[in-house]
Parts: sequence; structure tokens; C-alpha cells
Amino acid sequence: MSRQIAIDGPAGAGKSTIAKAVAAKLGYIYVDTGAMYRAIGLHLMREGVNTDDEAEVNAHLDSADVRLAMEDGMQKVYLNGEDVTTAIRTEEAGMMASKTSAYSKVREKLVSLQQKIAADCSVVMDGRDIGTVVLPHADLKIFLTASVEERARRRFNELKKKGQQADFQAIMEDIAKRDYQDTHREISPLRQADDAILLDTSDMGIEEVTAKVIALAENK
Ligand code: C5P
Repeated sequence: MSRQIAIDGPAGAGKSTIAKAVAAKLGYIYVDTGAMYRAIGLHLMREGVNTDDEAEVNAHLDSADVRLAMEDGMQKVYLNGEDVTTAIRTEEAGMMASKTSAYSKVREKLVSLQQKIAADCSVVMDGRDIGTVVLPHADLKIFLTASVEERARRRFNELKKKGQQADFQAIMEDIAKRDYQDTHREISPLRQADDAILLDTSDMGIEEVTAKVIALAENK
């Protein structure tokens, strides 16, 4: 029987790092739902869509074919057959994703895709609404969070490590803005499911958090 672990939380809380490590350890498939919203955001950006206009966004959804694939143990994201795994990782694509993920048609399209993936195999799925909407009967639900400062610091260090330009203050403002948009939208806002376990990772290392989630999964 397939099993489901749902990991939700705000931007930069370490969801993808933890979800990937837990999936590898348990032999489950890792599903990064944020990558799907980013791929849609990138598609709309490329098509020059005015994202303030919901009808215009809706009219461009059918032409976006989003797929996830596992290649050599790495998750790849495809948009209309093109590998956009790297192209979706910009702040701009993240902001586009955050803005357009508030629209019901965008969510319907991606939630149904996510539920299809989880029906076929054991998954560790991360996002904003996994425990509340996508997989309400998940075997384990985790809500991962950390302070805005700590999340901005992690993002800043990540960019620096890659040799990219980084402005700490701008990153922090961007994260705070995305938090606001994600928690205040009308449809499927980011919130902790009633039966989710809260883990604040502000003062915890990746290994400690991973071990904790695996222990919780094994006790289920
Ligand atoms: O997780 P990531 O930062 O890549 O997600 C980008 C954006 O996609 C988020 O800010 C959020 O608005 C949206 N998202 C969502 N529901 C999910 C995953 C991501 O609304 N399940």
C-alpha cells in the first residue's frame, strides 16, 4: 500500500531539503509541488500574461504542460517538454508562482496532478496545502517553520555559495511578502493542518530535523 508524508510550511523553512532526505531514506518519491507552481509562473511570464488579470491567466493554463521526472536520483521539472529545473529557481519565478497560485484554476490543475502522483506511489510531498487540501489523509503531516530572519539568512548563504549577488534586506522583505500572500489568499491559504506536527527549525540542523521526521514516520 502506498504511504504519504505531507510537509508544509512557509518559503525557506527547509521543506525541500528535509523532504528530499526523508524520501531518499524511506525509498519514497519526493514531490516538490512548489516547482509545479513555479513552472506555471514561468510559463505565464514567458507568454507575457498580465498576472493581475485572472481571466487572462486562466486562458493560458491549457497551454502549460507541467511534468515532474526523476532522473539519476534528481527531480527534473518539464514545461511543455523543456527542462526548466534551473530556470524556475529565480526570485521572479517564485514571486510569479506566489501571485498566480492564488487563482482557483491554477490550483485545480496542479492539485489534481499531485493527487494522481500520490495515488500511484509512496510520496513525501512538500508545499503549502498538502496536509490541508492535497493529501488530507496523509499518514504523517509536518508543518515546518523558522523565523523570517533565519529563513532569509539561509537563502542569503545559499546564493553566496553559488557565487550569486545577494542583498539580505531585499531577501527578507521578499520572504515576508510571500508569507503574507501565501497566508492571506482566499483559496487554500498556507496554514497548519489540525493534525500536523509543528517543527520550528530556527535552531535545528538539517540532520536533526530529518532524523526527527523519519522517527515520526516510523512510529506511524
Ligand atoms: O515552495 P516554493 O517557494 O518553490 O513555492 C513557490 C510558490 O508556489 C509559493 O510561494 C506558493 O505561493 C506556491 N505554492 C502553493 N502551494 C503549494 C506549493 C507552492 O501555493 N503546494
